[in-house]
Amino acid sequence: MYDQNLKFQSGKPERGGVRSEEEETTDRHDRYDRTSEGLPQVKLLTNGSGKVWTVDENGKPLGIYTDNSANRTTQGFQPIREKFKLLHFARKLLPKERTAHCFYNRITKEEGVSVFLNKLRNKANYGNVMRCANPWACPVCSAIISEGRKDEVKTAMDWWKAQGGDVLLLTLTAPHYSSTDVKSLKPAMLKARKYMLKGVRATKDLFKHYAIEHYISVFEVTHGKNGFHPHFHILLFTKYHVHNPRGSVMRMQFFEQWKKACEKAGLDQPSYEHGLDLRNGQKAAKYVAKWGLEHEMTKGHIKKGKTDSKTPFDLLRDYAEGDENAGKLFRIYFEAFKGTRQLNWSKGLKKLSSKGQEEKTDQELVDETDNVAELMFKLSIELWNPIRKHGRQGELLIKVQEDHTLKKAMEYVKECLGYDGQLRE
Ligand SMILES: [Zn+2]
Repeated sequence: MYDQNLKFQSGKPERGGVRSEEEETTDRHDRYDRTSEGLPQVKLLTNGSGKVWTVDENGKPLGIYTDNSANRTTQGFQPIREKFKLLHFARKLLPKERTAHCFYNRITKEEGVSVFLNKLRNKANYGNVMRCANPWACPVCSAIISEGRKDEVKTAMDWWKAQGGDVLLLTLTAPHYSSTDVKSLKPAMLKARKYMLKGVRATKDLFKHYAIEHYISVFEVTHGKNGFHPHFHILLFTKYHVHNPRGSVMRMQFFEQWKKACEKAGLDQPSYEHGLDLRNGQKAAKYVAKWGLEHEMTKGHIKKGKTDSKTPFDLLRDYAEGDENAGKLFRIYFEAFKGTRQLNWSKGLKKLSSKGQEEKTDQELVDETDNVAELMFKLSIELWNPIRKHGRQGELLIKVQEDHTLKKAMEYVKECLGYDGQLRE
């Protein structure tokens, strides 16, 4: 009986999954599927006695098991595993958010979940699954979004430097305590930034004096012993090269402005030492270069215990390891920051630096198609269930990347069915 169920892409209601409004709508095409036209619709079958194999649309077995030559390096795969593991725990913490459906529910229920592989870049990905595009909550989407934004910011910085300009890194923070409510701290910080960057005459004069023509402001938050620490990193595009900005009069003048801005926004007075930092172009470039890499295991592990400053995804990692309080903090953080813009470009900069190219939305970035990727196989909902239910989506992608013959992937799917007690040998 069981094999009959698995032989077809089931259109039946999903079991155990969170049903989403998004999933009901089929008007949003899956871009991966659009590119797969003309490719074989491979399906994964099991006969219920432990054997799993792939067949084409007509049910004819594909002989891809025979080639075992490719056994690829597993280096660099850890972040994939980690991101999907964290997504699994973000789902648990935010069951009502779009993130709970991310890489979990399908876009078109009549179709299975496709697995694509770009053999050149050795990058596997899914098709016909929702992507939440939430830069604050989703470890998988936020990494994709950061990568995309990094490219845009780098383009702007290169464009500016090619004209002889310099880009400085200004960091703004305000005092906060473990008792400070982040929900009120965040809007106050936004207010202070507004005063700082475009509110007053004095700032305009400062910008003019130092020939700062553009800026890009990034909103970030960490958590430490004094509670949540929202802060801004602002890339200042100046026409001049500034030597040692940290010890400059320029820093002092900017600090005076920031102090006033904090006061106006109802924040406590920042100290010169901690409230504002101004670094050179090298630091600015270094800062941008590490975007999208915050999920690398090494960072989280090295950091553990050595410093108390944690990124929101560090909190999620702690929750995944059993720290319930870290889970609570992640939820508080998310409630405070959801819907806030992470990046703000000064007027006109993007248009100038990107030569009029349209800015991509977060959703467009995460939905972007890899035109070179080939469809490798499709998973019916019965096979997808044991993968998604336990956050094994990353692991399956890794198996595909490790072994292009799909043997490892097929064995893994079989194994997952086994864990779930669905497959009896
Ligand atoms: Zn997502």
